[in-house]
Amino acid sequence: MMKDDGELEALREKVRLVTADIVRDVHKRMDLAREIGEIKGRLGIDVRDEKVEQEVRNSVLALADDIGMNREFMLRLLNILLEESESLQAKRRPQVQKQTHLTIFMKARQLEAAGRNIIHMEVGEPDYAPPALVGDSLSDSFARGKYHYTDTRGTMELRQAIAKQAKVHEEQLIVTPGGRFGVFSAIVSLLRPGQEIIVIEPAWPAYRECADFAGVRTKVLKTRLEDKWAPDIRHLEEMITPTTKMIVLNYPNNPTGKILDNATMDRIVSLAKDNDLFLLSDEVYADYAFAREFHGVLEYGYENSIMISSFSKRYAMTGFRVGYAISSKEIISKMTRVQAIGITSVAEPMQYAALAALGEDHLENVKTMKSRLDFVTRKLRELSLNFVQPDGAMYVYPKIPNMDDVTLVERMLEKGVAVAPGSGFGESYKHFIRISACQPEKQLAKGLEVMAAVIKERS
Ligand code: PMP
Repeated sequence: MMKDDGELEALREKVRLVTADIVRDVHKRMDLAREIGEIKGRLGIDVRDEKVEQEVRNSVLALADDIGMNREFMLRLLNILLEESESLQAKRRPQVQKQTHLTIFMKARQLEAAGRNIIHMEVGEPDYAPPALVGDSLSDSFARGKYHYTDTRGTMELRQAIAKQAKVHEEQLIVTPGGRFGVFSAIVSLLRPGQEIIVIEPAWPAYRECADFAGVRTKVLKTRLEDKWAPDIRHLEEMITPTTKMIVLNYPNNPTGKILDNATMDRIVSLAKDNDLFLLSDEVYADYAFAREFHGVLEYGYENSIMISSFSKRYAMTGFRVGYAISSKEIISKMTRVQAIGITSVAEPMQYAALAALGEDHLENVKTMKSRLDFVTRKLRELSLNFVQPDGAMYVYPKIPNMDDVTLVERMLEKGVAVAPGSGFGESYKHFIRISACQPEKQLAKGLEVMAAVIKERS
């Protein structure tokens, strides 16, 4: 007994010393990162260098194998160090606020408050009204006293109705406050700090923001206009490491409007299965598929996929904040925990409003959006701008000549037209803007005239 006590204390002392060494070494590493950051700043190069990062990752993997350490754990540890070094380097850069569709939306709102008229082509908020029954349902909820907490996963009525349409069991479903919270709770509940997700850019910025919030590292697979925004699957495969845990898909895509062809989707699902990855498929624009049929992730029956949907776009119900996620029972129960901690449940009257909408036809909305997108793309063609005809969603993402996105966006805003800067969807897209077709044609025409004038004045 005495011998064991002595040995235990001796080992603990050794652990203390090793831990102190690790802390000192981490400190040394941070000092080096700071020096490297200063040089990068002088040279004007990006803080993050995927190639260098991959080299470090490979050497850590080789070392882990050599000494018999768990590869995944070592990579998670490395990711935490990389994350810290990067944020240290980024903090020392002059801070310019990143412009996204939301920052432009806020600026546009301020201008409106000051009495200006603004044409909103920056946000994905349809201007048409929700189905009339939705309005009736709101007063009806009040009259029937339907304004209480509900099951965190949503009312049984709404869950059953959605489950019936989607042909899944209601246990596989959670009603969320908008698709956005579904994305958030999937990332926060399924991933741990130091793990990685792969996002295909250009992308809605929330995926990266949720990952950053959870200490999860985002690896970016860039796509190009020249390739019609198709992801390079070989490259995707090479990006997967033992710490990669999720691929995020968003088709029909915001901002490009792309829908993947079936073969590409098949290959991505196979990659996810082979590497045991979660597949988070944000399908909030699934109803707005024009050029080809859209096949969602649920058709594959892969248990580690999470499908995100929403009432926002289909029924023009953005402010109601109702969406849902469909996945395996196990994943839904993890997401339920996050939702219980964060919000208790979605507001009950809003769930009844969503239930009222569910039986309603949304095809008129889809037709409206298609004809507006056709209008915008016709005009852009007349201006000889380079873009890919959207297969779906609500946006066009053209390349702009002779100037960067923020210059164009700010100049247009001065003239009363709000559009979204392309770089809000990925740093490499400074020569793109996103035009949202959520306005009547007359407004879109005026907005595009202003855009043409600003481009002309700069060329
Ligand atoms: N996913 C994508 C790709 C989006 O563009 C949006 C909204 N702009 C959402 C999810 C979230 O929509 P909501 O939270 O209103 O359902």
